[in-house]
Amino acid sequence: MPLPARPLSPFTRFRQHAERTPIRLLLLTLVVLLPCVLYAADRYADMWAARALDEIVDEARARLALRQRTVNDEFELAFAGLRRLPDLLALDDRIRDEVAPRPEAAPRKPPQPSAGRRAPLNAFLKTFAETMDLHIAWLMDHSGTCIATSNYDSADSLLGTNYADRSYFIAAMSGERGRQFAVGRVSSVPGFFFASPVRQYGAVLGVVAVKTDLPTLSRRLRLDAAFITDEQGVVVLANDKAHIFHALPDAPVRDMPVSARILRYKREAFPELSLRPFVMRGINEKHGLTLIGDATRPTLLGVTHRPQDGLSLHVAEEVGEALTLEDRRQVRFHFAVLCGLAVLGTLLSAAIYTLHNQSQLHIIEGNNQALTRLNEELRRMAERDHLTGCFNRRRLDEAMNAELARSARSGHPLSLAMLDLDHFKAVNDRYGHGVGDAMLAHVTEIIRNQLREPDLLARVGGEEFALLLPDTGEREAVALLERVRRKVEETPLPHADGPIPMTVSTGVAEARPDIEPGRWMHEADAALYMAKRCGRNRTVRATQVPDETLAGGSAPPHCAVLSEAESGDGTRDAG
Ligand code: GH3
Ligand code: MG
Ligand code: MG
Repeated sequence: MPLPARPLSPFTRFRQHAERTPIRLLLLTLVVLLPCVLYAADRYADMWAARALDEIVDEARARLALRQRTVNDEFELAFAGLRRLPDLLALDDRIRDEVAPRPEAAPRKPPQPSAGRRAPLNAFLKTFAETMDLHIAWLMDHSGTCIATSNYDSADSLLGTNYADRSYFIAAMSGERGRQFAVGRVSSVPGFFFASPVRQYGAVLGVVAVKTDLPTLSRRLRLDAAFITDEQGVVVLANDKAHIFHALPDAPVRDMPVSARILRYKREAFPELSLRPFVMRGINEKHGLTLIGDATRPTLLGVTHRPQDGLSLHVAEEVGEALTLEDRRQVRFHFAVLCGLAVLGTLLSAAIYTLHNQSQLHIIEGNNQALTRLNEELRRMAERDHLTGCFNRRRLDEAMNAELARSARSGHPLSLAMLDLDHFKAVNDRYGHGVGDAMLAHVTEIIRNQLREPDLLARVGGEEFALLLPDTGEREAVALLERVRRKVEETPLPHADGPIPMTVSTGVAEARPDIEPGRWMHEADAALYMAKRCGRNRTVRATQVPDETLAGGSAPPHCAVLSEAESGDGTRDAG
């Protein structure tokens, strides 16, 4: 019973399927892997964009830090000078004398008109203000009333105006330096105010102040992409003039009472300075990019607080590259998709090539096996007789040559026998050719059953056979042939009309050293011929054949020789 076929593993089944239909499978693979390629390319482009953005932001931060330092230094330079100007004035004797208390006798003198008495001081302040590029320089008594000013002669002179509520005055009266941003009470011009106490014997007698207006300060400070807010969160200086008096989101100014706002800024409303986070694909609030006001280009905003001036410096560093980041990300994405497809294509092509090769290899292997089988069959057919399955003459010749050589080397005996069916023609004639064929196969089978493994049986004519018997001397050969002869005689071919008897005649010749194969066969043939001539159904040895017969003459066979020998070697006589 044949063994049941082992089930193929899924992998083997897949491989066989792939080899049979590589193109279909690979197209399927491409369809399945395409979304993966797109996903991977998108992830790569995102990662690239995130890294590029980090680099852009880092570089911008470094530039921003540098600019913040520069702006702060410039600011410090400008304000340091301004802070010291009232100090200078406070040390001036003319200023000090003006606020110093008068001796007791003085009030009795008729009072001089104040402008007239203070004309030199006013002129001095005017010269001072002009020289120092100040908007105004003025002196207040201890009640905060202006008693001398550089703009004494203009329509908006400060003379007589009270500044007791201004924080710079309050600070100076307490012995500190005062400073404040405000809108001029008389002039309505916004500016920075700096004040110093005027002392005599340690007591603060009055306050001297200077004011620089915004245009002048703007000239001193180069505020490119920067703005300054005061402690109330109000923009007081900016390169974009439209932003002045805007307030930062959540600026404290919104909590100031309206009256205080008006007193300080001469206005109630402070539009909010819009600071929107810049957000787009890959850029979120944590990157800290800001859109200032109506600007469309994102910036990084850095703040330096200057508590000593009550101000904050806001410096903006533009990060324009962030705008083109998405375009560049797209380029990377498309490039990555192309690379991915190229790699996939190469891998798939290699896979197609390999699968195709393998399938070709399997076909070739199959063909080779078929060819080998065919060759085997051809070889078998080339050396065998198809009716009896015996070897043919060609194979016999080869074997004779080989065995003669082997025998010559080993010294072992070697015999060749010729067999011929007796009166075979009569079987053909009586029963027909088909039964004749059956008889040939029948006798062949009987002979074969008597042989050893190394013996070789060949059909060399119509009903004529040869037997090559290695390691067999003449006597053993005769014994074998006699066994065969008797077996054939005792085993008729079964037939519907009754068993058909058959006999065989045989001749045998033992090989001699250096004998020609042709000669050897001739000797065996001559023995067979003698067996026929001497009555058939017998075995004759070549040594029994008369020399003249062996030499090719037509001498009588001397059958008497056979009957003499019968008793000794088992051969039969015709009787
Ligand atoms: P002898 O005893 O002298 O050998 O007589 P014979 O009749 O056997 O010999 P002969 O040479 O007169 O006849 C041989 C016959 O064998 C003639 C031929 O028709 C027949 N024959 C040869 N080959 C085949 C074959 O393959 N099949 C069949 N059925 N007959 C064959
Ligand atoms: Mg015959
Ligand atoms: Mg014959």
